[in-house]
Amino acid sequence: MTQSNDDLRFEDLGLSQPVLQALDLKGYNNPTPIQAQAIPPVLEGRDLMGIAQTGTGKTAAFMLPSIDRLREADKQTPFKSCRMLVLAPTRELAGQIAQNAKDYGALAGLKVHSIVGGTSVNKDRNKLHRGTDILVATPGRLLDLIDQKAFTLDKVEVLVLDEADQMLDLGFIHALRRISQLVPEDRQTLFFSATMPKQIQELVGKYCRNPVKVSVTPESTTAERIDQFLFMVQQDEKQTLLEMILSERHPVPGKFERVLIFARTKHGCDRIVKKLSQSGIPANAIHGNKSQPQRERALGEFRSAKTPILVATDVAARGIDIPGVSHVLNYELPNVPEQYVHRIGRTARAGRDGIAIAFCAEDERDYLKDIRKKTDAEFERLALPDNFRAVVEGVGPTKREQKPRLARPKVRPAGDAARKPKPKQKHTARKGKPAGAGSGGAGAGAGRPGGNRNRSRNRRRSGGGAPRG
Ligand code: AMP
Repeated sequence: MTQSNDDLRFEDLGLSQPVLQALDLKGYNNPTPIQAQAIPPVLEGRDLMGIAQTGTGKTAAFMLPSIDRLREADKQTPFKSCRMLVLAPTRELAGQIAQNAKDYGALAGLKVHSIVGGTSVNKDRNKLHRGTDILVATPGRLLDLIDQKAFTLDKVEVLVLDEADQMLDLGFIHALRRISQLVPEDRQTLFFSATMPKQIQELVGKYCRNPVKVSVTPESTTAERIDQFLFMVQQDEKQTLLEMILSERHPVPGKFERVLIFARTKHGCDRIVKKLSQSGIPANAIHGNKSQPQRERALGEFRSAKTPILVATDVAARGIDIPGVSHVLNYELPNVPEQYVHRIGRTARAGRDGIAIAFCAEDERDYLKDIRKKTDAEFERLALPDNFRAVVEGVGPTKREQKPRLARPKVRPAGDAARKPKPKQKHTARKGKPAGAGSGGAGAGAGRPGGNRNRSRNRRRSGGGAPRG
């Protein structure tokens, strides 16, 4: 969640007593910027176009006023239909939204259900037989039920499209077109997207009538509180570098709490997890081939920090709201710059700072260029460990000789005494040429941020004494 506005209170926005009480129970005092901007027009019945990422409080921004409007209209729960339909791209996000709807609507007496793929259709049919006030759904499962004549959308008063850009990325465009023809024309539409590519603008034109536009993150710019670092590293060296970082053999800025690692493919995620586990570093993977219970377990263990390393594909991690993600590690760079924005947006939540580290191989330079161009990101280059190539090839200080295996990742905060200031060194990672050779002990200062604007923030975060250039 982004910072809330201390001067403004939820009472000032015109919300009803039951909703205010529910907010009180959750301990929310002040609306976040997206809530402050969105709640009044939604209460008036206006359509809305919101540019906001998960973590900004956007769920409450659409859910709170909608609950109030549904309460006020006081219609009966429709048979085999719903009054408010929220479409979300992933199962995880749908689950989170439904839980929020239950929390916020606890005292409003509204029925909330969610339906997602990967679970029993029959159960969904049964639970929706008597209809519901609020339905949170992934598009595919919703259309399954509609095709089976188990559900209709003709009683929908409010339609919410959440993470619309992600729904397009996932190929839901046809599903969305069909759904748009099945909902009544006089509904209210609330449309949310983290980015605003052209295709999304066209969709907004189709779905919304004269929408109020609210935005809390400038289009395609990366969050300001995220310090971004970069390793230039060969593809076949990445796993070793990852293991050295997670096991503290090569320090990087920041103190690890939860590390979210992005890979491009499901298979890639599994391979990383397997190799980490062979090195004594427990981690979980989350991607589309995992069953729902496996995904939930991985997320639960990540949330509770029992297993604070999670390796994910873009799709699976999108929209996940987990506070305390200290590091986002891009093991592979995404080929779409917007995806990079989404990825690193998993850190720096709830007003905290965050760290994003990218591993860029030679053949990913173009992706890096696109990311820089699109987001104005300032990356601070980090040096590889000393004798790195030798370590990768197993002829240098071998993994076994180095340290006892760690059950949990531990990285000293930036500025730890071990990380002494050193002169800036040139990165020379090439086959047979260990990067940072001749620059002192492995890791000492290798992860040292250079002299850009990130430095003071790193120092603050680490409790003083951050590495200096
Ligand atoms: P969202 O962007 O909707 O996923 O929300 C991000 C997180 O912020 C969730 O954990 C919400 O429960 C929390 N949240 C939403 N609104 C507020 C608020 N006004 N004050 C404090 N926390 C909030």
